[in-house]
Amino acid sequence: MANRYTIRHPLTNIHPRSLKHLSFHLYSLLRERLWLKILIGMVLGIVVGLVLGPSANLVSRDISYMIGEWLAFPGYIFLALLQMIVIPLVFASIIRGIAAGEDMEQLKKVGMSTVAYFLVTTAIAILIGLTLALTINPGNFISTEVVQQTMGSEMPQVSHETMTTPEIADLPGMITTLLPKNPLGAFATGEMLQVVLFSVIIGIALVSMSPSQSKPLLELMGSLQEVSMTVVKWSMSLAPLAVFGLICKFTLNLGIDALLGMLVYVATVFLGLMLLFCLYMIIVYVVARRGTIPFFRSIRDVVLLSFSTSSSAAVMPLSIKTAEENLNVRPSISQFVIPLGATINMNGTALYQSIAAVFLAQVFGVDLGFSELLLIMVTVVGASIGTPATPGIGIVILALILNSVGIPTSGIALIIGVDRILDMSRTAVNVTGDLVTCVVMDKWVGSKKTLDEEVAEMNEREKKRRALGEDVIVNSHTE
Ligand code: ASP
Repeated sequence: MANRYTIRHPLTNIHPRSLKHLSFHLYSLLRERLWLKILIGMVLGIVVGLVLGPSANLVSRDISYMIGEWLAFPGYIFLALLQMIVIPLVFASIIRGIAAGEDMEQLKKVGMSTVAYFLVTTAIAILIGLTLALTINPGNFISTEVVQQTMGSEMPQVSHETMTTPEIADLPGMITTLLPKNPLGAFATGEMLQVVLFSVIIGIALVSMSPSQSKPLLELMGSLQEVSMTVVKWSMSLAPLAVFGLICKFTLNLGIDALLGMLVYVATVFLGLMLLFCLYMIIVYVVARRGTIPFFRSIRDVVLLSFSTSSSAAVMPLSIKTAEENLNVRPSISQFVIPLGATINMNGTALYQSIAAVFLAQVFGVDLGFSELLLIMVTVVGASIGTPATPGIGIVILALILNSVGIPTSGIALIIGVDRILDMSRTAVNVTGDLVTCVVMDKWVGSKKTLDEEVAEMNEREKKRRALGEDVIVNSHTE
């Protein structure tokens, strides 16, 4: 412990309130069984889509298109609200998550180990995806008629121009572009990786300054989190209607044949996600000696909620609470790992993107040699890190990956009809991955304090916060 005359690092003196306090916004969604409402919305969406779709011949094609667009309207609003709020929420949460660190040394260790762990597990997820897609060949199960019916009579031209592999000399320049020269530009264009790096730099700068200087900005970030979670809660009230409308629209437009033709593709992604989930359970058992059933019981609520919301970012407060209270992870670890993981650790998305890329290559007859597969792997790692944690974004980013290996991006029209259920499922796996990372980092890196010590201090600070009506507590400089 520091003696009376030791000046402690500013980080050890400043303590913002944890994001988990905003989990109350999400509890009502759990109580009201949002997941069940969403599943009902999904089934009703398919049924109404079939009844009003072209195969039932009840309404003309133009009218059914118009009905589809209007039914999907709440869905567009739901997606837009979540996409609008994810950048402020992630920005504020990463900054405040850094300030939750116990000391600089721990922050450095957790930061480096977490990023290395994310990269390795993402690469494994992609390998699982590629192996499954190349073994099952889901693209061979879809007929040319279905493809033409979905994409119009013209088959898209296959481009033979693929991305050029960068030279070693290009690397310094490429790495530098990861830092946003214009942070507002990165926010405006949704460059997630740049936003994450900017947030990390601002967070570290803030906790290196004197607490009296950093406190106002940390408090502002707390307000931003609160505002974001309020909007998340509003958008969630639309979720069942949104899912109903979006699914209905795609069933109307694509018809049942196209949806059934995609069954093998959907099953391949499900199988991949299940294998990834099993891998997580093995990691949890080997590293933390926790059994699969008790672990799953502890995380069930947040997994169900992430399935319902399709957004890793929206469930962050509950993920932190689950990590701390159900999985006994130190607060200094969970408050740093969850906001970072929600943004850059998307193994479910990476697995899905690699299967979707191979599937579309098979549909369009694009040959994928070793170098193309390697290129897919590298672009998917980058893309899954840069994918914002909101619904439906994985499929948008997929366009970049397809472009890099010359697969027609118009193929997205084919897979978007089944994307809702795949998005919900991959988000649940993404969130499970973040919780597993917390358990692993708690075991591998930990901190100088035990869990009980950290929790006791946190409770003490919470009491002080309530008494003072403050959000960010500052200790005195000497002890
Ligand atoms: N919805 C996913 C998430 O938030 C991202 C995606 O794959 O679309 O984790």
